[in-house]
Amino acid sequence: MLDKLLLAKNTVYYSDKQLDAISRGFCPNCLPKHSPYRILGTYYDENLKINLYHIKCDNLVQCEWDDEIPATRVDPGLEDFFNS
Ligand SMILES: [Zn+2]
Repeated sequence: MLDKLLLAKNTVYYSDKQLDAISRGFCPNCLPKHSPYRILGTYYDENLKINLYHIKCDNLVQCEWDDEIPATRVDPGLEDFFNS
């Protein structure tokens, strides 16, 4: 589970529903269909001071979604907070 707040802070162009999909491991571009995405790699962003995942939609034939999202995970104690 990715940090939805962090995603929202660093990805200004996604709706709340899309952020929710991303944080659960699904491509935001394929909604309402739940297509998982692949993590192609991780790298450190000097400007944001966080690790980023380079991710791409698994549904390559129909979707070209490709993006970088913050890789930092939520503190396990906060999981319930984000899921409520
Ligand atoms: Zn997709």
